[in-house]
Amino acid sequence: MMEPTRETKQTGEAKGFCIAVDGPAGAGKSTVARAAAARLGFLYADTGALYRAMALYFLRQGIAAEDEAAIAAACGEVDVTLSYDGQGAQQVFLNGENVTGLIRSEAVGNMASASSACAPVRQKLLELQRSLAAAHNVIMDGRDIGTCVLPDAQVKIYLTADPHVRALRRYKELEQKGQTCNLEEIEQDIKERDYRDMHREIAPLRQAPDALYVDSSHMTMEEVVRTIAEAAQRKRREMEAGQ
Ligand code: C5P
Repeated sequence: MMEPTRETKQTGEAKGFCIAVDGPAGAGKSTVARAAAARLGFLYADTGALYRAMALYFLRQGIAAEDEAAIAAACGEVDVTLSYDGQGAQQVFLNGENVTGLIRSEAVGNMASASSACAPVRQKLLELQRSLAAAHNVIMDGRDIGTCVLPDAQVKIYLTADPHVRALRRYKELEQKGQTCNLEEIEQDIKERDYRDMHREIAPLRQAPDALYVDSSHMTMEEVVRTIAEAAQRKRREMEAGQ
């Protein structure tokens, strides 16, 4: 576990050391970020879950993915919060209901991908993400963490993989769960999500200029975790040497 930052020690204030992990769907961000967080003793924040919780609300209200006005109007009715259990596992609450187990479906993922392009949705979640990072040493994964949510993050990683490799990983995951699926459809879906995330007007997915580019196509998850942990340790040493 890494020591708390010097600022934390001196002032008692929780000033976080932040690691931003951005990248397209299926690059393995959540798996490696969770493992790296455990290794470093950091909190792991999965920001996609926040967009998914909001998407679940829109779906429950029968709002169509392309109905931006209805999505914007509904934002005022939504309260999304996070808590962490004793093992550090993130729990997501939608208007007080724990929806952690209800947000992993393709329908919710597709709605999240569409509704996350709306400014009121992003605005709503911005402060929540920033306040989490201000209070903890955190490794946060998403699409715009290094570019928009935490532009001053001490470590930024842009994690990607070939779309075919990402589709294959997703295919195997679904197969293991006993779900029948079609590899070509999954790959197509991944490419469409990439396109939407990279071409939206607000906070599009892109590599921050100071982010470390990691292509996990031919790496094991352990290799990626090690890369992230080493980048964090390196940065910590640099910060200590500069003080
Ligand atoms: O990462 P995950 O697949 O759970 O994210 C669901 C959707 O939420 C993504 O397709 C993306 O459009 C959106 N998202 C985002 N910004 C983030 C995290 C997720 O726009 N920081």
